[in-house]
Amino acid sequence: MNPETDTINEALRLDGNAVAGDLQMLMGFDVTLLQAQCGHCQNEGVFASLVAYVRGPGIVLRCPTCEGLVLQIVKTPTSIIVNLEGMARSVMYLPMS
Ligand SMILES: [Zn+2]
Repeated sequence: MNPETDTINEALRLDGNAVAGDLQMLMGFDVTLLQAQCGHCQNEGVFASLVAYVRGPGIVLRCPTCEGLVLQIVKTPTSIIVNLEGMARSVMYLPMS
């Protein structure tokens, strides 16, 4: 751990709610309702609990437990690239009415 980069990373951290609008635009529903499981440490929680970094060339969501990359979204002039390889699984529970 480098104290200087740790301080910078801490200043850039947001929670998953910060990217809810962008993810809803992509997926078509409120992803904060999703349960996501980290593929690195198997931690499971709601999307909103992921750590978001949005000041780079895209959106990065990291696990709050191990800081492993869970989801990455990069917009290019012609496409949107979604990298889900850090997610073990994602499940959405919708109440039946
Ligand atoms: Zn993890």
